[in-house]
Amino acid sequence: MRLDPVTSGPRARAILGRTGRTAAPGSAGESMSTEPVVARISRSVLSDEIYLVVREMILSHDIEPEQRINIDGLSARLGVSPTPLREALARLESEGLVVKTPLRGYTATPLLSVREFVELSQFRTLIEPWTARAAAASIDADGIAQITAELESARRTLEEDLDDVTAYRALTEHDARFHTLLASLAGNGLVVQAFERIHFHLHFLRLYLASRAVSLHDDEQAEFVHQRFGEYYRARGQRSWVVEEHSAIAAAVIAGQGDEAARLVQEHIESSRRRFEPVVAALAGGH
Ligand SMILES: [Zn+2]
Repeated sequence: MRLDPVTSGPRARAILGRTGRTAAPGSAGESMSTEPVVARISRSVLSDEIYLVVREMILSHDIEPEQRINIDGLSARLGVSPTPLREALARLESEGLVVKTPLRGYTATPLLSVREFVELSQFRTLIEPWTARAAAASIDADGIAQITAELESARRTLEEDLDDVTAYRALTEHDARFHTLLASLAGNGLVVQAFERIHFHLHFLRLYLASRAVSLHDDEQAEFVHQRFGEYYRARGQRSWVVEEHSAIAAAVIAGQGDEAARLVQEHIESSRRRFEPVVAALAGGH
């Protein structure tokens, strides 16, 4: 099983357990200038681990959308001091998972609204046909190997006997890597950064996990949401429209067909928007 440890549930739970044991009360407040290098490294490792744990708590609705985050309460719960927790929250703020407001402190952001989802899709349709066209114009043997390996890993994931959540996480991770790879093959670092900064797939994963955590208005709506997400990952050898569309895009890029690659990427993002806009609307009204 190939899983990004960042978003793997069991991994995060393991970290949570370990964090409790390795926390060194008081050590985080020491001045950076006098702190030994080893202490500094272990502190940054601790901050990374706390970041992963809190991120997982937000994604899995342990911390609910718009819930206020009490730093003292959460640091006590995790068995860590507030300083690395604050560092972790600052990182989560840059990903749009928490927001800091004066006097109120940190709050988990709401789930994507329909408007935000549409804006993200519009942003992607502005830059990604360009990245696909530029990637097709300049791809070399190394780029072909990278894109081929990424698709093979996605196909292997589909063949594995995974539970829904694990399959879905693995597919969103592939999806994020695939689009980032196209951007990097286009050779413009600023475009890669702009794409990464919107954290589209992170928020998309949060929506999926929300669909399992919130109660929807009625069974019919819940069934509709479940079906739309199911079509996205379709594990165990079944078709996944995402992997099919990525394969077509990759073939055009590898063949150097820029116009075709740009058209397919545009269609891919628009088909995703059409499929999921009603899902986002259902989830926005479901809690
Ligand atoms: Zn995609």
